[in-house]
Parts: sequence; structure tokens; C-alpha cells
Amino acid sequence: MQNLRFAELDIQGLLRRIEQELSSEFGKGQVCTTIPELQTVPGSQFGMAVATVNGDEFVIGAAETPFSIQSLSKVFVLEKVLQITGASLWERVGREPSGLPFNSLALLEIEGGVPRNPFINAGALVLTDHLAANHATAEKAVLQFVQSLSANDSIAINERVAKSEKETGGLNFALAHLLRSRKSIAGNVDQILDTYIRLCALEMSCLDLARAFTHLANNGVCPRSGQSVLPELDVRRVNALMLTCGLYDGVGNFAYRVGIPAKSGVGGGVVGVIPRVLSVAVWAPELDAQGNSLAGISALELFTKYSGWSIF
Ligand code: GLU
Repeated sequence: MQNLRFAELDIQGLLRRIEQELSSEFGKGQVCTTIPELQTVPGSQFGMAVATVNGDEFVIGAAETPFSIQSLSKVFVLEKVLQITGASLWERVGREPSGLPFNSLALLEIEGGVPRNPFINAGALVLTDHLAANHATAEKAVLQFVQSLSANDSIAINERVAKSEKETGGLNFALAHLLRSRKSIAGNVDQILDTYIRLCALEMSCLDLARAFTHLANNGVCPRSGQSVLPELDVRRVNALMLTCGLYDGVGNFAYRVGIPAKSGVGGGVVGVIPRVLSVAVWAPELDAQGNSLAGISALELFTKYSGWSIF
């Protein structure tokens, strides 16, 4: 890594340059089609926020507008499970990229109900079950965790988005019942689905997300509060999983273009971690064919290109 110090790089200037250069990226993708309520979101919005391990923050565009975090919640669920139950979760979920869409049933059927990783829907459903079995109020535990990481108590679930996904998310229902039939889910399927869908419907801004991920760039310690969130070894592992599994079947291309651990969601958010430097969150609702934010990926590509910060 070209180890530039913050003082040597004008991060605010860099964000301005990215915003200008991105203009040609809008109109090429489609806002999320799998959750009807998300289709009402105007596609050409853009926000970006950076939170450094020194505690500095930089924002541009709609960086403080809350949006649907969707699969970004899978990182918080994984962290909460690691905090509560430690490594026992790996008996029920793998650590390999799936090479298939986030809601695919195919591999799960072939591989006996053990999801490939915690960042595809099947894996997150198993983790939600694991969390629910070890915590009386799994949803509340994750919500409070996220609010504390972001220092923002107003973070909440968008009930309309949750309802919309419940009415239309047939594939997730199929995944959950398949997992139950293979004994990969022990709890009540409807309750697990409800918690999973509601946590996907959390709304956060880019600034909330950049803050919430900074400990993953800072050896597990939240720079703002000094609180230790996860042990250093777990942080390395969460980052490794994001690098290999964080963008579904677009993960190889993302590593090639951007070169940092990151996680995306179909609400158009992508959050990246540059270990020992910063976390960076971007939001642009139009998605590519893999369900990843089209302009969001381009923004991160420009960010690592112009800063020289990459893990490779
Ligand atoms: N709630 C969405 C689903 O389960 C999340 C997908 C995503 O963000 O990738 O399909």
C-alpha cells in the first residue's frame, strides 16, 4: 500500500472530483427490482462518506440521507454473532464465495443446506437463526449495536420496506424452508424470516455506515468512542470474508477494479474498508446485473485509484 498520511491527501477534494467524474454513470443501471417499495427511490442520487481511523470525517452529496441498507446488515449480524457465540457459527455456514446470485437456491440444494458464506441470503438466514437461539431479542440487539457504532439513536427500520419484502420475497421464504428441512435452521422459520427481512430494512446514511464500519479499519476499536467491538483476529476475518464474498457474483471484478474488502446491498449502498486507514461508504441506487451499485462501485474505483490506497 502506498501509505499516504491523511495530511498528504485532500480527501474532501478527492470526493468532489469523484462526484464530478461520476456524472456519466447514472442512467445505466436499474433501481432494485426485487423489493417493490425500493422501486420508488429516485435512481440518480449519490452520496459518499469517509471516516478515518484518526476520527476525521468527510462527506459529499446525499451522504446524510438515510437509505435501505439491505445486505449491508449481514455484516452487522455476523459481527453480533461473533461477539455472542464466537466461532461455533462456522459449523453451520461456510467461508467460500458462491459465484451465484445472492438469493440463489441452487447451491444450497446441492450442498446439503450448508450455505457457502454468511453474506448470501441463505448464510444470513442461518446466522439470524443462530443469533435468535442465543439472544432473546435478536432484532433489538443488532439495532442497538448499529445505533451505537454510528452514534445515531434515530436509526430505525423502514416498516414499508419490510412489509414490501415480506409480500414479495418468495425466494427467501423458499431458502428458509429448505434450510429448515436440512436442519440448518433450528428455530421458527417465520420468526427468522421476519427478523432477517426487518434488519435488511434498516435505514442508514453513508455517514452512519462509514462510522459503523471504521472499527473494521482500526483493529476492532471504534475510533470515536474508543470501544473495542471485536478482537483483532475476528476483524481480519470479517474483512477477508468481505473481500471474497461481499459483492456476490461480482466480487472478483470488484477486487480487480477496487481492491479493498467491501459489502454491498440492493438498496444501492456499498461500504469499503481500507485496513488501518479508513472506511468509506457510498450510495447510488441504480444497480448492475449482479445487484451491486453501479455508480457506487465506480466511485470506490476512483477513490482507490486516486488515493493509491488498496490492500494489494
Ligand atoms: N433483503 C434483500 C434480500 O433478501 C437483500 C439482498 C441484498 O441486499 O443483496 O433479497
